[in-house]
Amino acid sequence: MLKKNHRVRIAMQKSGRLSDDSKELLTRCGIKINLQQKGLIFFAENMPIDVMYVRDDDIPGLVVEGVVDLGIVGKNVLKEIFLEQKEKFKKSLLKVLCNLDFGTCRLSLSIPLNIEYSGLDYFQNKRIATSYPNLLKNFLDKKKIQFKLCSLNGSVEVAPRLNLADAICDLVSTGATLKENSLYEVETVYVSSACLISGLQEISIFKKNIIDKLITRIQGVIKAKESKYIMLHVPISKLEEVTSLLHGAENPTILKLANDQTKVAMHVVSSETIFWETMEKLKILGASSILVLPIEKMME
Ligand code: ATP
Ligand code: ZN
Repeated sequence: MLKKNHRVRIAMQKSGRLSDDSKELLTRCGIKINLQQKGLIFFAENMPIDVMYVRDDDIPGLVVEGVVDLGIVGKNVLKEIFLEQKEKFKKSLLKVLCNLDFGTCRLSLSIPLNIEYSGLDYFQNKRIATSYPNLLKNFLDKKKIQFKLCSLNGSVEVAPRLNLADAICDLVSTGATLKENSLYEVETVYVSSACLISGLQEISIFKKNIIDKLITRIQGVIKAKESKYIMLHVPISKLEEVTSLLHGAENPTILKLANDQTKVAMHVVSSETIFWETMEKLKILGASSILVLPIEKMME
């Protein structure tokens, strides 16, 4: 086994909204983590990578301190910490290496359903419950709105019902929790998704190579998820029209068909999802045998 300082350490959320997607991402990148191991750190069997499972709020600190080299965390957590420490450090001690395609949500201001929203002025001097005081202040300061902060670490959505607050500023994805609590969203404060972060410390060339390899694989995984492999038979006379229907498709491969001189087979990678409507239009143009296949991995 390689020396400890030759292994790249990644911190990920132990359990919560980012944990399944973070684990799946590493699996898709071909990193085999043996979950039978005990303790805080799990070792990859096939790459010099170790994974540390922690609370998401601890991830930026662990990266800044150099306890881990990389972290997977929501941008909302990063931005909140950055705003909190801006005065102290002047600039961020972390950098985003790559954006990830999960953990999508927004930090929104929501108010009770029985109140008609009159615009941002509604929040003037109101009590707002949140776990993101810095993001909220940053947003409302810019709009010149004064507010009373009700800082809560969890269950922010119950604050209006308990008469602790007049509004909440919390993360929303589907809006189901808001609905359950008779609240509705009126302003978006910050749009977030997960990202891969690192600190600013110097790292060895060896580690840098591992990290670069990991980033290339992550980008390949994300691109593959967004892309489709399309195979179809196209009348030669309609080749141009068919190509222009398949947006995001570059350099299609054209192959001869064995028993049909009027059509060719076209194979193409599209960086966009192919909708039923597009397939129907292809059919009208005379295309046949249309297959849309998922792509597992991609490297350019
Ligand atoms: P931990 O126990 O690790 O501190 P937590 O309760 O703070 O967990 P989760 O609710 O699991 O955190 O959310 C983790 C991250 O998932 C959020 O910081 C955010 O980036 C993202 N996320 C995506 N959708 C949502 C959502 N609807 N509500 C909350 N967070 C969401
Ligand atoms: Zn947390």
